[in-house]
Amino acid sequence: MQRWLLVFLVLLVSASSGGLVSAAPTRALSGSDKLQVVATLPDLANLATAIGGDRIDVKTLARPGQNLHAVRVKPSHLVALSKADLFLQVGLSLEHAWIPGLLRTARNRKVLPGTNGFVSAGEGYSMIEVPVRLDRSLSADVHPAGNPHINISLGGGPHMAERIRDGLIRVDPAGEEAYRAGFAQWMTRYDEARLRWDVVSAAVAEKKADACLYHQEFDYLLGEMGLSIAAFLEPRPGLAPTPSHLAKVIDIVKAKEIPVILTAPWSNNKNCRRVAELTGAAILQLPVMTGSENQSGDWIRMIDATVEKIAAAYGVDAQAVLKAHAEATPLSTGKS
Ligand SMILES: [Zn+2]
Repeated sequence: MQRWLLVFLVLLVSASSGGLVSAAPTRALSGSDKLQVVATLPDLANLATAIGGDRIDVKTLARPGQNLHAVRVKPSHLVALSKADLFLQVGLSLEHAWIPGLLRTARNRKVLPGTNGFVSAGEGYSMIEVPVRLDRSLSADVHPAGNPHINISLGGGPHMAERIRDGLIRVDPAGEEAYRAGFAQWMTRYDEARLRWDVVSAAVAEKKADACLYHQEFDYLLGEMGLSIAAFLEPRPGLAPTPSHLAKVIDIVKAKEIPVILTAPWSNNKNCRRVAELTGAAILQLPVMTGSENQSGDWIRMIDATVEKIAAAYGVDAQAVLKAHAEATPLSTGKS
């Protein structure tokens, strides 16, 4: 963040919140005094709302469809952070280009790293694509700790939800029972959805097919669906494609007969179109977070739609597979 912008933002927050440094009292929650939660992603906001219900008021910083490695900070972000009781990020370096500076500038002691009000919901997740050694030539890599896009993986939801629940309980112990109940209710929905996703994924995995992506973004999900990733349009995460790299990608897509280039709203660009034109592959734009691609603001529905789209790209009709599975599965009598 540029220095002049920081100075401007500091002045703005100072004027709007009446001071630069917030104290950290225990909140007494009343009807209009809800716990103020700020989330980097709509995914985290949706999970927090499902767990916290009407005890919390949630604001989201990133807009659906944005490149999470390059979110442009706005004065409204700083105002929200300065008033937050709980801050939620995915972490794993996903938001490291814009969040640390914002938190330092907001100077809200309740939500600084290491405090009860700071939650990295992805922490502890079993990451893929973790660099095996530190390489200075990779300094431009936007995935320095491994692949951080766990919000678009089947397993990421419950992992993030659990840490959000624990964060809510830490800053609002009086609501523990409500937060545990909200989490349990969400997990029931998740478990039902996971059965659907696993059935469809098994059908996709039978294709033993390869995938081509623009950015290392859907890697968890594709692995969970049994697809192998053969090529990325970016030579490294965050680096724009070069002509020589694109030529290699085109060869791979042709050789492996990859039917589709998977991309995101922010990366659906001329390079994707070029690879598609020269290989005959289609382009499939997928949501990178809840709410993008005009999906509803519900994380489970976003994953539902994404799984169905990927399956269709590989010739699997998700609804037909689920119908056939339901017909072949004997109904439970409910008796033990
Ligand atoms: Zn990334």
